[in-house]
This record gives sequence, C-alpha cells and structure tokens, in this order.
Amino acid sequence: MELKEQIQPHAVLIPVPFQGHINPFTHLAMKLASRGFTITFVNTESTHERIAKAHSHKDDDNPFSHAEESGLDIRYARISDGFPLSFDRRANASQFMIGLTHVFQAHVDDFIENLVLSKPNPPVSCIIADSFHVWGSMIAKKYNLINVSFWTEPATALTVFYNADLLKRNGHFGRHDKYDDTISYIPGIQAIKPEDLPSYCQDADPNDIKYVFKCIEDAQKADIVIGNTVQELESSTISALQEQQPFYAIGPLCPTNFTKKTISTNLLPTTDYTNWLNNRQDGTVLYISFGSLVNLSKQDILEIAQGILISKVSFIWVLRHNILVSGERNILPLGFEEETADRGLVVPWCSQLAVLSHPAVGGFLTHCGWNSILESILCKVPMVCFPVIGDQLTNRKLVVDDWRIGVNLCTRGLIRREVVAENIGKIMNRSDESRKNIDKTKMLLQNALSDEGSSDKNLNQFIQDMKNKIL
Ligand code: UDP
Repeated sequence: MELKEQIQPHAVLIPVPFQGHINPFTHLAMKLASRGFTITFVNTESTHERIAKAHSHKDDDNPFSHAEESGLDIRYARISDGFPLSFDRRANASQFMIGLTHVFQAHVDDFIENLVLSKPNPPVSCIIADSFHVWGSMIAKKYNLINVSFWTEPATALTVFYNADLLKRNGHFGRHDKYDDTISYIPGIQAIKPEDLPSYCQDADPNDIKYVFKCIEDAQKADIVIGNTVQELESSTISALQEQQPFYAIGPLCPTNFTKKTISTNLLPTTDYTNWLNNRQDGTVLYISFGSLVNLSKQDILEIAQGILISKVSFIWVLRHNILVSGERNILPLGFEEETADRGLVVPWCSQLAVLSHPAVGGFLTHCGWNSILESILCKVPMVCFPVIGDQLTNRKLVVDDWRIGVNLCTRGLIRREVVAENIGKIMNRSDESRKNIDKTKMLLQNALSDEGSSDKNLNQFIQDMKNKIL
C-alpha cells in the first residue's frame, strides 16, 4: 500500500458552543471518521451539560458513543469555556464572547498541549476550528498542526467579509445613505443590495463587528477553509474565494436519512410530534421557528400571530422561552392558543428535521439560519423568510431573489398582519413557483452528496490535501 494511503489523520474539532455550529460540526465529525479520520471532538462543559440534560443522559455520557459502537474513531473531550456552569451565557452575551476570545483560548491551548504530550495514536495532525473562533491560527502554529477553518455559513457571506475593505472604499460599510445602490464590485457576487449584506457590515454593535472581523482575519490565515455549502449553489462565489485560499464546499452537513437513528446534539429537550402531524393532510402544516439564538420584539410576534389567525393555516410554532430579550413568557395574543387548538401547536423546541421531513409540513416560516435553509431544501419545504441578524440577511437574498425557493414575510422589516397572512398563503399554495424550484434545488444538493458528486469529490480532495501536508 502507498505510504499516503496508510496515513490516518487525527483532527481536533472545536465548534463555537451554539446549536447552529454544534450540529454541522457533529456531522463533519461523522463524515471524516467514516473516511478513516481519528476525531477528537471538543465540547465545552456547559454544552455537554445541556446536551446531557436535554437527553436525560447520565453526566458522563458521550453523545458519540453510538458512533463509536459502529467502529468510528471519535474521541470525546470536554473543556471549560472559563465560566461557571451556573453563569447565564445568553443573558450576558457580550461578556461571554469576550471570554470565548481570551479565557477559552487559554483552555484550548492547555488541552491541545496535554493531548499532544500524551502521544495519542495516531498523533494529532490538524485542528479544525470554527471560523468564528479567533485563535485557530495561533494554536495551529504553536503545535505545528494543519490549520483548517470550518465556515458554517454560505460562501457568499464569507466573500462579503473578505471584501470589507472594498465596501468601505465605496461607502457601503456601516451606516450610510446609499441603500438604493446595487453593489456589483465584489468578486464572485454579481449584485447585492446594501440591505442584504450581513448585519456586521451594516449598522451592528461595534463590539460584535470587532469580534467578527477578528475571526475573519484569522480564517484568512488558515491552510484550508471547508464550507457547509454546495459548489453548484454558489459557484461563482466559491470560484472567487478559491482564487484567494483553498476552499472546499463539502455540504450540506446534516443528516439526509431522516428515518435512521442519528446522533442528537439538541441543547434543549424535544418531544415527538409525529402523531399530531400524522393526523394532518400532506403539505398543509406551516412550521415556524426562529432558530436557537435570535430575539424578536413583542410587537413582531404579535403581528405574526395575528397573521397566522387571519391565514387559518395549521402550524407548529417553536416559541423559545427566551425569544424576547425581557424573558417575558406570555407573548401571544390573549386566547390565541385556545382559538387555534384544533389546528396549531406552540412548542418550546422540537427536533426540527423530524418535523420538516414529515409529509404534512408544506412551508417553513424561518429566520433564515443557514442550517435551517439547508434542512428545508433537503426536505423540499419552501420558505417564508424573516431574517433578523448576521448572515440571515444575505441568506434571505439567496433563498428569495436568487434561488426562488421562498418569499419574504414582509418588506424592509416592517411586519403587518395582513401581509403576513398573504405571504403564508402564497407559500402554502401547492402551485407556487417556489415549490417547483425547491424540488430542483433539493436534487442539486442530493447529487452533490452522491458518489462523484461535487461535495463528495471536494471532501476526497480535502482529505488528499491533508494527507499530502502530513507526509
Ligand atoms: N433546531 C432544532 N429545533 C428547533 C429549532 C432549531 O433542532 O426547534 C435546529 C435546526 O435543525 C438547526 C439549528 O437548530 O440545525 C439552528 O441552526 P440555524 O443555522 O438554522 O439557526 P441559528 O440557531 O444558528 O440561528
């Protein structure tokens, strides 16, 4: 056997401790392990505790034990993020982000040092850090590891960040009065409106902007960037990125066989809603969720609720307890749940893929988180888009304007109940154009994942590159 074939890379994977990052990282770990990698998967103690609680596991349970039983070499580790378990990371988000930059970095450093000194078999060869960590290049350099950055958002958002200087030079970065312009000078992006740039290029909190661009600066130093996207979805953008840095589109990184038992990394407990869905006709239920992090205003939630009442649609609505900054619990209009009892469910969390893949679900009112979009495409569910922050603004453009697999919930962030009802009606209409387009988009994703498809080939190429660098 050729020497190169015998090399077994050992990668340490470290996601940002948020649901939308832990999920794709988990599938990346499974994919790489099934192609012969040894994986050390690192969760924070706090993430570990939440997963264990959500699944009624014993505290020392390893979420990957099921994969280990199948012979995959996934070693599981937990490190402190620097805060006590009782610290409310959500309520103190800015303090938490600062901690992730400094204290967590020191814990990662100690952990890698001990791991390397323990001389594991095979030796650690590479670190795959979330692109939203600021220290990947420092750690890789210190321990002589291959530096891989994992970008969990679309390539379009990364390209925009990489070209922030161009935006600044043209007066399209931060606050400005050029909102009617069309930006057509970013390599790989034919045209984008200023309002569709990620919010960190618009009018965001200066501390958030500083953090994000520190991450971007670090990602630019990576030996390789891997992206949870698909070549055919963003081909010109990915080609432009590849001119700057090795970039491999290896997505979508989410389970595709929804009936098979998969590793669950839910941070909140879930209930099975299959029985309720089984009693609905195909394509008649609207699934509503704003992901794991965003906050909405009470007024927006009230207008959405009134829009749902007017539309008379059946629905499952994930309304997290912390969706309002204030933490207030009684958000829905008086009598809403009684009035919709025969056709609607309001739940604190669910297993999103189990719901989306049920034939009863015909539409998804989403905040446009990137994982939600990929999952919706895989389940052939067209979307009603209500982006709030970050890449969600750019993702909306891709879904509605470019791929035409969804509609807007409202224009320019202004929610009115009549418009909400009208757009829900559009997406639930079985003859809507977006329903036809999403069938094609799903095929594109499925083909990319199949043998010799673009994501499959890119993953193989990435693995070859890694082995070449190890040799
Ligand atoms: N999710 C879930 N149950 C819910 C809501 C979300 O399992 O009730 C999962 C969803 O399947 C996705 C992730 O949480 O994988 C959310 O990621 P996304 O990028 O869509 O949004 P974020 O939470 O990062 O804003």
